[in-house]
Amino acid sequence: MTAHHGDARRPGEICADLPEATDAGLRFVGVIRTPFATRADCPRRGDAEQGPDCRIEVAAPYEPALLAIEDHARIEVLYWLHEARRDLLTQSPKSDGAQRGTFSLRSPLRPNPIGTSIVTLLRREGRVLVVRGLDCLDGTPLLDLKPARCGYAVVAPDKA
Ligand code: SAM
Repeated sequence: MTAHHGDARRPGEICADLPEATDAGLRFVGVIRTPFATRADCPRRGDAEQGPDCRIEVAAPYEPALLAIEDHARIEVLYWLHEARRDLLTQSPKSDGAQRGTFSLRSPLRPNPIGTSIVTLLRREGRVLVVRGLDCLDGTPLLDLKPARCGYAVVAPDKA
């Protein structure tokens, strides 16, 4: 068994009988290009300072949604960990038999395999963002982009 959890189940891990999917109506809004071809190549967590340059290719219909994104040095990226199994309820990340619940982990293996990273925005090239700080496979579908919470000043007026 490798350090990276593939599709194999480790001793003691509990799997769910998954209920019928309810469609949240997600639309992939682009694709993420990284130098990581396999899960084993991916870092466990992206490094927004020293990590390799990666490209977030926003799909053409969503280009207007990038307006003013350059105002933000740090961006929160949400992506769909498309190769992750979705039925694990407990996991043994260190493969040492000690179990933790999926919701107490940042493991990619989860009922809704959404990954998030805070990245440094290096530059924008049209509808491509060049960033540092990702940990996902090349070709991972993009779900959303938003300014990172720290350093973000709310644009909308206060609620009454
Ligand atoms: N930074 C994200 C988070 O905290 O939500 C993801 C963390 S997860 C520990 C990162 C690992 O997910 C990578 O090291 C790799 O093993 C795995 N991974 C990356 N891209 C994936 C993909 N598209 N499908 C399945 N697993 C992926």
